[in-house]
Amino acid sequence: DMTIAGFDDVLFDAMQKEVERQEAHIELIASENYASPRVLEAQGSQLTNKYAEGYPGKRYYGGCEFVDIAENLAIEYAKELFGATYANVQPHSGSQANSAVFQALVKPGDTILGMSLDAGGHLTHGAKPNFSGKHYNAVQYGLNEQGFIDYDQVAELAREHQPKMIIAGFSAYSQIVDWAKFREIADEVGAYLLVDMAHVSGLVAAGVYPTPLPHAHVVTSTTHKTLRGPRSGVILSAEGNADIEKKLQSAVFPGGQGGPLMHVIAAKAICFKEAMEPGFKTYQQQVVKNAQAMAKVFMDRGYDIVSGGTEDHLFLLSLIKQGVTGKDADAALGRAHITVNKNAVPNDPQSPFVTSGLRIGTPAVTTRGFGEEECAHLAGWICDILDVLASGEDTSAIEAEVKGKAAEVCVRFPVYK
Ligand code: PLP
Repeated sequence: DMTIAGFDDVLFDAMQKEVERQEAHIELIASENYASPRVLEAQGSQLTNKYAEGYPGKRYYGGCEFVDIAENLAIEYAKELFGATYANVQPHSGSQANSAVFQALVKPGDTILGMSLDAGGHLTHGAKPNFSGKHYNAVQYGLNEQGFIDYDQVAELAREHQPKMIIAGFSAYSQIVDWAKFREIADEVGAYLLVDMAHVSGLVAAGVYPTPLPHAHVVTSTTHKTLRGPRSGVILSAEGNADIEKKLQSAVFPGGQGGPLMHVIAAKAICFKEAMEPGFKTYQQQVVKNAQAMAKVFMDRGYDIVSGGTEDHLFLLSLIKQGVTGKDADAALGRAHITVNKNAVPNDPQSPFVTSGLRIGTPAVTTRGFGEEECAHLAGWICDILDVLASGEDTSAIEAEVKGKAAEVCVRFPVYK
């Protein structure tokens, strides 16, 4: 018997309970999704056993003839899906994709310009504790008073600091980014433009969010967020950027990693192919409609949304006005089996570990079948809990009531049928 059960019951039990948690809790973390059974099949396959340092046709190991087919398919599908002329499907994660681009296009000590973490950027866009903020001179831009990217500030900072690379893209921003504007600013100062579309790559693939491909010198993405594939990364570029392809190739391997994860690359091939099916576009359209349906309920009930609404799969709820912390709200909703993450909001009076906001996203609930009606109800239940929290009264009764409703809707919409 070679199963985990019976070999390590503590581990097996934890794995089982995680499966049950995913079925029985409502997932609103904007960066999560449920990968398809095909993606899980590829990731659990024997391709995990294969060393394949190098690239298809140019490997440092024998026996790569079949994994070469898998990697070539992943590359071909990625290019077709995003209209790219170049794709590297080997980065193990979004952070490693970004780190490869840094290695390819800038040198330690060079100036880079990215969105600050507290405005909605990612760690790898120049945050202090990350390699991007430690080894590079990172200058950071943010949002204007209305909660939109401050393009005037981006341009001013670019002129003042003359960065070698500008990074556009975000982990928590609910509006459309003007990719062309970023390219205009980059061209003015002679900088490369890296767009990290990790959060919106699924929306981009479906044509429901503008594609950065024609504007950026290079585009990175994770494959597990709206794109709904395995936890991994990808690097892309479009016509006109052939001069940097070689640098990108060698920055991924041997620059930043050894053997690629061939089982995950096979899963990426599945993910890109699934994203070309007609149902994927409908899914992504529904993701945005669901986010908008939720945002409307919050605003109708007196809660503030940063930037006043959403055009993508997520939004930031600001609880500054209610005097509720993100930490307390996250915990109360968690007890009602609704999973969110606390998130700093503009002018947040609380520390980054406490915060005054929540980030709410709809990719996962939409995958399990929620429509606007379910999403509007869900937002209402969240408000019911936040109202009591803001009043300072005990939340246990309302948490129990919402937990019951959450259980009922989760049974109606199973994740894995
Ligand atoms: N880039 C952005 C914009 C992200 O939001 C994230 C993940 O949160 C990443 C990169 C990093 O991806 P990973 O967690 O796979 O390293």
